[in-house]
Amino acid sequence: MSKPDLNCSFCGRPKPETQLLIAGLDAHICDRCIVQAHGIVLEETAEETPGNLSIELKLPREIKAFLDEYVIGQDASKRVLSVAVYNHYKRLLQDKTDDDVEIQKSNILLVGPTGTGKTLLAQTISRLLNVPLAIVDATVLTEAGYVGEDVESILTRLLQASDYDVERAERGIVFIDEIDKIARKSDNPSITRDVSGEGVQQALLKLLEGTVVNVPPKGGRKHPDQKFIEVNTANILFVAGGAFDGIEAHINKRLNLQAIGYKTAMEQREVDKENMLQYITPRDVRSFGLIPEIIGRLPVLTYMTPLDEATLRLILTTPKNALIKQYTQLFKMDGIELQFTPGALDYIVEKAMQYKLGARGLRSLCEAVLNDAMFELPESGVKKLKVTKQYADQKLSKIELPKLKVVS
Ligand code: ADP
Repeated sequence: MSKPDLNCSFCGRPKPETQLLIAGLDAHICDRCIVQAHGIVLEETAEETPGNLSIELKLPREIKAFLDEYVIGQDASKRVLSVAVYNHYKRLLQDKTDDDVEIQKSNILLVGPTGTGKTLLAQTISRLLNVPLAIVDATVLTEAGYVGEDVESILTRLLQASDYDVERAERGIVFIDEIDKIARKSDNPSITRDVSGEGVQQALLKLLEGTVVNVPPKGGRKHPDQKFIEVNTANILFVAGGAFDGIEAHINKRLNLQAIGYKTAMEQREVDKENMLQYITPRDVRSFGLIPEIIGRLPVLTYMTPLDEATLRLILTTPKNALIKQYTQLFKMDGIELQFTPGALDYIVEKAMQYKLGARGLRSLCEAVLNDAMFELPESGVKKLKVTKQYADQKLSKIELPKLKVVS
């Protein structure tokens, strides 16, 4: 029989009010005090490691090699990102007592067509750094007080991605997609209030540069009673991405203007009209409609190239978690060996190009080709499936391609 007068020697709670009371030599400790003490131990030991972080400094070349495992092509932007991430590491590891030089954040702006791997790059960096990642869409953000989400909701997502571990969230990565959609709609900023454009850019500024924000842990305005959590954004790496449709015209205009007065190096080099994005500068982003302050806080600017047939072909089979590898694994789990002939792979790529489905379309196409087999084969006793061009064509002809849902 348990003695009714037993209580926790730390908080005094009587045994019936605890879930667990552990006896020591001449004292007891309850479950709640154990959890609290464990937290203190973690905090104290974490402080002993330099910079509070257990990260290993990886060289730009190593970072790029890691990105190469997951992202095909995009060499220019991978090199720029590798350096940005390297510097971000160094910034985090900087001895805070040696504070005469403050290294600024290397927030990144990725410009390039949709479906070329911008989100994938951000995901891969978060995997490399082993930090939480929040992917948010700039188009849903509005200025506080308007319909839509406040910019703080970005940090709510990051908290959720880190299971509400504030310290982890504070060195996480935020990927802001479609940043180009909050560009100023007009050259005259004062015509009407620009709720979803410049106003949001202004609201984002503080977050990007580093500030302490009161974050509603459940997000939104539906839970007015929730307690706010303080999140410091100083060490959060922001990666913004956007297609910036039509920015080529701005780049072209700038290059032409430069060429009028004097013969520029650019002009001598012969401009590659097919890929104007490679010449992008912060000035072009500014004339597109991002405010200079935002551009200043996204100092690492790089571009993505459209995916050609050869790249799509590689995307199908070579990355660590390539689609074909995933399907092969799925079939293997049913005891079926899945094989694609080179002709079938070329055919899928051809269809993705033909219907302008890009890399996102590869998934929908594979799904359409393999759906019947995935439905029927598990109970059929079949041990091998060879997908030929003819097989793929037959399966795809059953569906209307333009209606294919693009799955990301
Ligand atoms: P974006 O953010 O540029 O619109 P995503 O990164 O979301 O494009 O790409 C969509 C999907 O296409 C990804 O999940 C990935 O599977 C594939 N993909 C796109 N670009 C690449 C690439 N360069 N290498 C490998 N896979 C890619």
